[in-house]
Amino acid sequence: MRVCLGAKTQLMISRVFFHPVSPSVAGCRAAQCRLFCSPPSAEEKPRPSMLRHLTSKIKATGPITVAEYMREVLTNPVTGYYVKNNMLGPDGDFITSPEISQIFGELLGVWIVSEWMGAGQPKQLQVVELGPGKGSLASDVLRVFSQLRSVLGNASVSLHLVEVSPALSQIQAKSLTGNQSQEADSEDEPVYRRGETSSGLPVSWYRRLDDIPAGFTIFLAHEFFDALPIHKFQKTQKGWREVLVDINPEKQEQLRFVLAPAPTLASSSLIQAGEKRSHVEVCAEGGVIVQQLARRIVKDGGAALIADYGHDGDKTDTFRGFKGHQLHDVLSSPGSADLTADVDFSYLRKMAGESVACLGPVTQRTFLKNMGIDSRMQVLLRNCSDPSTRQQLISSYDMLTNRAKMGERFHFFSLLHPNRLRKPKIPKGLKLEKKPNPAPLPVAGFSELSFS
Ligand code: SAH
Repeated sequence: MRVCLGAKTQLMISRVFFHPVSPSVAGCRAAQCRLFCSPPSAEEKPRPSMLRHLTSKIKATGPITVAEYMREVLTNPVTGYYVKNNMLGPDGDFITSPEISQIFGELLGVWIVSEWMGAGQPKQLQVVELGPGKGSLASDVLRVFSQLRSVLGNASVSLHLVEVSPALSQIQAKSLTGNQSQEADSEDEPVYRRGETSSGLPVSWYRRLDDIPAGFTIFLAHEFFDALPIHKFQKTQKGWREVLVDINPEKQEQLRFVLAPAPTLASSSLIQAGEKRSHVEVCAEGGVIVQQLARRIVKDGGAALIADYGHDGDKTDTFRGFKGHQLHDVLSSPGSADLTADVDFSYLRKMAGESVACLGPVTQRTFLKNMGIDSRMQVLLRNCSDPSTRQQLISSYDMLTNRAKMGERFHFFSLLHPNRLRKPKIPKGLKLEKKPNPAPLPVAGFSELSFS
């Protein structure tokens, strides 16, 4: 479907896209593209403390669920992978779209402003990012906001980051506020760090989504849901059984998967009626978070944009590890590698419920093209004469949009206030019989953009 965006949205997009950007700025992030990553070191650093912690837990209480294993390995407050590591970038374990190119975050910045306009330009705009990594996406979004200051007018804008890792929160604070941030005095404070950007925009850090104040909010979650713990189940002749993690009896220093001999709480409650697959992964925590987002959007207004690799309820075994940009056995050297599973968007849609409107998933290629990535690329290339920067721009564009690379693996999914997709009401007394009701403003990224 080809639709025309509202005149204001078009104007805004052109203002951001045709803003002159120096080639050095344009190229600096692209230089870190995954294509140029060095191979992983052959030496694998053992994480004895995490393995010891897991084996003593299993010895004490028996095999643990995959969800518990993933939660411990990734977010244990002392030895968790996210808590201890800076895993993003060429020297880390994986790289993400915002780290590949600034264009990605800029387009999401335009999306936020476009949805804020679609909601009638409320006086307050809270932007929440779940799992902000190095803070690159948020920083690109804020740059768009400063370019669109006249569009945002007097709206009071604030940034709220939900981050489990104190180490990453420091990196985010440096990138977003320079030295203008402070840790809370006590560990129990819901806001554990506060700061201000150079343009005076307040930034706050939380461990939990629940602690973010109420109000009109646009939520962003890029490669966040795939890091949340999943339960794994297998269909057997005796019915559904949960996959658990146990100690290998032949090698005490090794873990292995086993099947629970009887139904578990999770296998009795998380399998959908009529499930056709024989192996299923369910991210119950992701479901709870989507329910929280839906409740807040319905009550206070706003939208959520969730971008991740994923499927629409048809994949089976996607649980995997990444270390040094290579696949890694999920049970070996726990804590030294990233653990992840594809996001099941059909489950998120189901958990969001009927009260919010859901759009997508659409592929990253479709979303970025609908947002005008091609026009943005043309402007950047026109302003850039350095051959190596041009090459970096082209290869990062290719990485983001190529069907065989991130273009079709990654998907965009959105939760919207139900009014957002309703036709505007025509006030009684207005004689508009000859004109049909105007259509609601299209949601950028999910409809094809037209400048005509
Ligand atoms: N969005 C970023 C980073 C993705 S990595 C990007 O695309 O570049 C996942 C991020 O989520 C990290 O910042 C990690 O510390 C954070 N994270 C993982 N589990 C979390 C949890 N349960 N609560 C809050 N943050 C979490």
